[in-house]
Amino acid sequence: VNNCNELLTQIKWDAAGLIPAVVQDAQSKEVLMLAYMNEESLKLSIESGVTWYWSRSRSELWNKGATSGHTQRIVSMSYDCDGDTLLLRVEQQGPACHTGRYSCFYNAIEVQGASTEAAEAAEPAAERFAMLGHLESVIAQRDAERPDGAYTTYLFEKGVDKILKKIGEEASEVIIAAKNQDNDELRSEASDLIFHLMVLLRERKLPLDDVMRELSGRVGKPTTNKMR
Ligand code: AMP
Ligand code: ZN
Ligand code: ZN
Ligand code: ZN
Repeated sequence: VNNCNELLTQIKWDAAGLIPAVVQDAQSKEVLMLAYMNEESLKLSIESGVTWYWSRSRSELWNKGATSGHTQRIVSMSYDCDGDTLLLRVEQQGPACHTGRYSCFYNAIEVQGASTEAAEAAEPAAERFAMLGHLESVIAQRDAERPDGAYTTYLFEKGVDKILKKIGEEASEVIIAAKNQDNDELRSEASDLIFHLMVLLRERKLPLDDVMRELSGRVGKPTTNKMR
């Protein structure tokens, strides 16, 4: 829907003139928060490309990140089948939650018969490739929260050049391990390499999904000459 006025008629506003917006990390696919929009905040979001909400507690327009700096650039926006919910896929700067957490949904509720493994498998990222998906979420969380003393925090604070240097080092260590025919070493160094590569993807804001899609698209097709 391109026309803004037409869109506003498709939206089913609640009695208070609001609509809930589910906010998702466009990269890791994690659900970050839920907030409400009124007509004006929806228009502002569409026109500016960053998120504007209606604060029900303060009764005012709220530009997410205006005070904290934890802004959200909108990657895509859609509404659901019956027009009563918005979905925003965003590029989140820092934590989405005002408590400093990556996501607002950190209060787990124990459910009868739900195992920890099942709970982990329910994470959206886990559907793609369990461990890589989980790792991507953990890295995104570290990036957002920057916990003291975490190695991933250190990498993000040092910046992209440090991350690139580590990838070079770990790639060399993979080569040495393979040459030495030492698979214990190779397993460890390959893990280091994949971890640092994923930190780089987060730093460069390239979703693992894009890499996976690229790989899927190549399966069964002749390899291009530039790869040889
Ligand atoms: P910010 O928009 O990040 O500058 O935060 C300004 C204020 O908005 C905070 O002090 C909170 O009251 C509120 N706030 C920010 N993020 C959230 C969130 N994810 N959920 C609920 N309230 C929030
Ligand atoms: Zn609905
Ligand atoms: Zn929160
Ligand atoms: Zn290593």
